[in-house]
Amino acid sequence: MRERTSSLSHFHQRMDRNQLWQAALGEIELSISKASFVTWFQNTEIAQQDGGLVTVSVPNNFVREWLENKYNKIVLRALRNISQEIKEVRYIIGTPKLVKPAPAVKKAPIPFPVPEEQFEFKEFSIDKETNLNPRYNFDSFIVGSSNELAHAAAISVTENLASSYNPLFIYGGVGLGKTHLLQSIGNEIVRNDKRKKVCYVSSEKFTSEVVQAIRDQRTQELKDRYRKVDLLIIDDIQFLSGKEKTQEEFFHTFNALYEHNKQIVLSSDRPPKAIPTLEERLRSRFEGGMMADISYPDFETRLAILKRKASERQFVVAPDILEYIATHVQKNVRELEGALNRVIAASRINKQAPQLLQVKEMLNAVIFQPKRVVSAKQVIKMVASFYDINEHELINRSRRKEVVYPRQIAMYLLREELRTSYPAIGTKLGGRDHTTAIHACEKIERELAQNENLNKEIEMIRNRIYSE
Ligand code: ADP
Ligand code: MG
Repeated sequence: MRERTSSLSHFHQRMDRNQLWQAALGEIELSISKASFVTWFQNTEIAQQDGGLVTVSVPNNFVREWLENKYNKIVLRALRNISQEIKEVRYIIGTPKLVKPAPAVKKAPIPFPVPEEQFEFKEFSIDKETNLNPRYNFDSFIVGSSNELAHAAAISVTENLASSYNPLFIYGGVGLGKTHLLQSIGNEIVRNDKRKKVCYVSSEKFTSEVVQAIRDQRTQELKDRYRKVDLLIIDDIQFLSGKEKTQEEFFHTFNALYEHNKQIVLSSDRPPKAIPTLEERLRSRFEGGMMADISYPDFETRLAILKRKASERQFVVAPDILEYIATHVQKNVRELEGALNRVIAASRINKQAPQLLQVKEMLNAVIFQPKRVVSAKQVIKMVASFYDINEHELINRSRRKEVVYPRQIAMYLLREELRTSYPAIGTKLGGRDHTTAIHACEKIERELAQNENLNKEIEMIRNRIYSE
């Protein structure tokens, strides 16, 4: 009997560690770039927690050094946000998947095996062949008025591959479910017919493959490989903007697939016509298919998503708490999930469900956080990258129309987001005088009152500034 209890509590401890790390990862993911997150946090886990000391096991020395030197602060902060008792993090090298359950020796330096659940975490179970993550499917996607068109189009594509909408182009802001939908299409196709060849690729990966193929003079091979697929999914196509060679290569692949009646699905953070320097022929190709946007979910949808995510984790959260989160986190489903994860992790750790008051306190930092502090430099950089122009050109004297307009938008955002004084705005943007800054801000304000597209554009830039 004793044995049983102790192994049971041992099991609980492991669950807690895993939950704790998953919740921390959820936060870490929000504060660094996706590429860094995947690079540095893949195959990591909490090997041990001993009072205030948490030991994280990592796959190799390289990662260890990197985490120690560069990410320790972020890791510690994320952990402390969940459990304040934590004071220190250490990193050890471990190969968690290969280690057999270790005898429960106290302070054993060997990490425990990774509990099954850990593999459910995003990047952990990606199919090598298709690049798809099985975690994303239609069943787990909540449909509401903000995404029903995109959802319906996605379903239709799975039912009539290459004969309903080709290409299907889904666009919308950060964290609103584009990747989820795209991957669901791929997973559904493979599930229905194992012989179908599906390839999911981010446009960054596609670009780097093209660049490498050009360097190695193996572009033909690349073309052949992509042309073999039945369904090609390219995520975040806006990153192709301005990369001529990649666009060229993509165009040929696109045409070849299209002509052979293969399905193409694309996503972007904005509609094709708002992607600067997208080649005209690509743009018109994209627009020739189906375009569907995803907007911010309404309250009911947010609540339904939270309920769904809670039940996926087999966790019952009181309605008032779910409503509180749904009311206060509005513009990003990923953040909605992050808030829920915190609540779940905290209740696992404290072994009891939190009260609304505690939740309010816990989420204070996330929810009422005045927008993250950003610098003028970041605003300028983001505007330049959004319109795909050179930062120097944006700041300096150029009077090209393509530059003047974004410059005015940069001025407007500096005023709106940072409350920068007019003279300071003028100085930051190439030593102009404050009258120019005032005119620019007023002009953009006037236009905003009439121009829906401009509203959307500025909203997208804002999103990017705060989600970087
Ligand atoms: P995007 O690619 O648009 O930035 P993601 O597809 O990565 O956004 O979504 C962010 C997170 O929110 C994911 O964990 C995803 O599962 C979840 N999510 C987004 N929309 C929904 C939805 N309608 N139903 C369930 N989960 C959603
Ligand atoms: Mg995405």
